[in-house]
Amino acid sequence: MNMNCKLVTDIAEMYYEKTLSPEARTAIRSHLRGCRNCQAYYRQYAAVRKQHTRQESPVLPESDLTEMEKRAYLHLSEKLRRRRFWNIVGTSAAIGAGSVMLTIGLLLTHKKEN
Ligand SMILES: [Zn+2]
Repeated sequence: MNMNCKLVTDIAEMYYEKTLSPEARTAIRSHLRGCRNCQAYYRQYAAVRKQHTRQESPVLPESDLTEMEKRAYLHLSEKLRRRRFWNIVGTSAAIGAGSVMLTIGLLLTHKKEN
């Protein structure tokens, strides 16, 4: 599977969250090994994600909350975290997401035919 730089940076989020197929992960990893631009991009991306996860992981006053309240709180903080993250990295990734899904679909289809 051939990966170009745009695709790699576009699906960095999925790569980071390990939601990609093993084939796609392997392809990205080998691209990162040979491409300094994407390497730098992904390192920065991962650093931003890590920082946010650390800073904003919710600290819950365990005894005061019911299970339902906890879940609602976690859900809300996750939503806020995502929104803040997109503000930081800009909206280009989000804009590209649609075309990325299409590209991945095409890649997967192409792969099956081989
Ligand atoms: Zn690249």
